Amino acid sequence: MEEQGGAAALGWAARDATGVLSPYNFSRRVPRDDDVTIKVLYCGICHTDLHIIKNYWGNAMYPVVPGHEIVGVVTGVGGGVTRFKPGDTVGVGYFVGSCRSCESCGKGNENYCTGVVLTSNGVERARGGAASKGGFSDVIVVSEHYVLRVPDGLPPDRTAPLLCPGVTVYSPMVGHGLNEPGKHLGIVGLGGLGHVAVKFGKAFRMKVTVKAIGCSSFRVGG
Ligand SMILES: [Zn+2]
Ligand SMILES: [Zn+2]
Repeated sequence: MEEQGGAAALGWAARDATGVLSPYNFSRRVPRDDDVTIKVLYCGICHTDLHIIKNYWGNAMYPVVPGHEIVGVVTGVGGGVTRFKPGDTVGVGYFVGSCRSCESCGKGNENYCTGVVLTSNGVERARGGAASKGGFSDVIVVSEHYVLRVPDGLPPDRTAPLLCPGVTVYSPMVGHGLNEPGKHLGIVGLGGLGHVAVKFGKAFRMKVTVKAIGCSSFRVGG
């Protein structure tokens, strides 16, 4: 069941496993108290999007509006929103909901929650089981708990990929102390994640070695 009645949205949707996207008109939900309405400016494309669009994982809920590397500007906030106001530049990553009461949610690790709602092709159980529609659209409505502030001066287009590949490498690097000058960082594969890891490694002034798939390794920094 699709929830109707909110902002009219124009998206790009896959209707089947051909990989073709076409224009798709739909409605965002009516904003709740804690919701932020965002005009989408940029949205990256991730290989996960390709997996879903082409139904490689057998879980596509067509029409699929992909996109979970979203940067936009706030156009409206619910009465209970405390962290954002219209005009703020913000980001949305891989998930837009969770139970907010389990141990993982309590620790700020909502991504481990069994009630997590993915940004695209996720199941919005609290909303009749509708499939979530991602950032390949002009507007998105997200609870403020899953909205991130984009600092002034950060180019919004280049920020978008930080919201999936960026955090995917940044989080374990920092979590394991791989952010100190002089340490060695090995990266296998210079793809969507790998090239961002190189940039973080350089920024942390590490000694970075890349093992490109099918090639011999080469040093890129240090
Ligand atoms: Zn991704
Ligand atoms: Zn939870």
